[in-house]
Amino acid sequence: MDSNMEKRVLDERLRQIFVELTSIDATSGKESAVADYIIRFVNNLGLKSYRDNAEELSGGNSGNVIVEIMGGGEYLLASHMDTPRSTTGLKHQFKDDRITSDGTTPLGVDDRGGLSSILFALEKAVENKTLKPCTLLFTVCEETTLAGSLYFKPAPNLKYGFIFDSYMTPGHFVTRTCGAINFELVIKGKSSHAGISPEKGINAIMVSAEAMTKFPFGRIDEVTTANIGSVNGGTNTNVVCDEVVLKGELRTDFVSHGEELMGKILTDFTGVCEKHGASMESKYFWDFLPYNITESDLPYIHFSQVAETLGIESVPAKSMGGSDANSLNAKGIKTINLGVGAQNPHGNDEFILYEDLSNASMLAYQLLTTEIKN
Ligand SMILES: [Zn+2]
Repeated sequence: MDSNMEKRVLDERLRQIFVELTSIDATSGKESAVADYIIRFVNNLGLKSYRDNAEELSGGNSGNVIVEIMGGGEYLLASHMDTPRSTTGLKHQFKDDRITSDGTTPLGVDDRGGLSSILFALEKAVENKTLKPCTLLFTVCEETTLAGSLYFKPAPNLKYGFIFDSYMTPGHFVTRTCGAINFELVIKGKSSHAGISPEKGINAIMVSAEAMTKFPFGRIDEVTTANIGSVNGGTNTNVVCDEVVLKGELRTDFVSHGEELMGKILTDFTGVCEKHGASMESKYFWDFLPYNITESDLPYIHFSQVAETLGIESVPAKSMGGSDANSLNAKGIKTINLGVGAQNPHGNDEFILYEDLSNASMLAYQLLTTEIKN
């Protein structure tokens, strides 16, 4: 078989699992049916699973699904059960080298590609009796709040994590991401009639506009970006506006950097408000924290070796987006996010190459069946 032919062949069983999973509609907070599928799948293999109570945090209809194999081991494999958009009406298209939808819905490949890879590999490892002690974690609400991984209470023995949830080609792995601050600023002025008594009012729109001239929009330096993504306020054209709500985010590799920048923005905005007799209420929180796994960290070393065994090139990468890896790293579980090859994620043109889905499942198999050498 030449290599071109190989790229066009997808294992029948892997294809079946992928089709079954992508046929379930489960947007963030509504993961229950996918959780049921995984629990049934795992039970059929003679393994035990349980659901935690992550819905207490997410407000959704399911907790995370957790499988502790042979005591749970030192490392976990994970992927998320939700999709950001509904896949109702999905019609799979099997092209020469890839699976797509018919263009009217997403394929749900983020992250059903990761889920299928892990479940397929798990089935193989059970059949071959090659499983090693480890934990499987299937999370809820990754796409919205990371609530599943934030809620997850890791067993004390867990030290390392491998997440199957990057759009990158299998072999690529995210070792570093920025963190992100979400903020909301409410600028409060005073309303009055815009024609009869404008001088009695304090226009929150005018104050906001002046304050925003001091905001560092866009890329600030190599590791920092800032954005105000929504501006809301005002009622009628004849009313001096009394309140404007600004929502935005900062992304940066360093927590101290983020705190400093947020502090400066608050000081600048408060200064402009005071100048005009307006006031400001503000709140902000870290949506996710940055992480940095270096080449001397075990997940880095282990994954590189595993990929090499399969002849897949391992390529460390940086990402400006958050994932469950950020929550797990914040809990002290050194975690990298692995490429699955879920391309054009969240669009109606989502696709995955047969080759990438195969490689992702082989990487999952190798991770499930190879102990980490401390
Ligand atoms: Zn994802």
